[in-house]
Amino acid sequence: MEDNCVFCKIARGEIKVEILEETDNFICFLDANPKISGHCLIIPKKHFINLVDLPSDLGSELLFMIKKVAESKLRQGFEGFNIVSNNFSVAGQVVNHLHVHFLPRKKGDSLKILE
Ligand code: AMP
Ligand code: ZN
Repeated sequence: MEDNCVFCKIARGEIKVEILEETDNFICFLDANPKISGHCLIIPKKHFINLVDLPSDLGSELLFMIKKVAESKLRQGFEGFNIVSNNFSVAGQVVNHLHVHFLPRKKGDSLKILE
């Protein structure tokens, strides 16, 4: 745990967010500055800086969490999704605690990714 890391504070419950999904080692909550409706973040509860830092044995639980969020969003009427993880500042990582952006999609929405 890092004292001043905003996502550690969320994981510790010191910053209140609505937890959408939770597993033993990951939580999912809404992004404070959503790029699109339903934009949420999946983070490990422990402080790992990026995907390189994440122990590989947590990889399958991360994938399980992504699928859990996906199933929930599809049930809510979203038709698809993008997942994005910015790793290192050159790639746009601002919060240095691993996170995966989950971006639910609907036909005709305005989000542009890799276009
Ligand atoms: P990145 O550029 O990949 O590091 O994105 C960091 C993301 O964290 C941004 O989309 C922010 O809106 C989001 N964020 C930062 N602080 C909070 C917070 N307290 N609660 C929810 N989302 C946050
Ligand atoms: Zn942290």
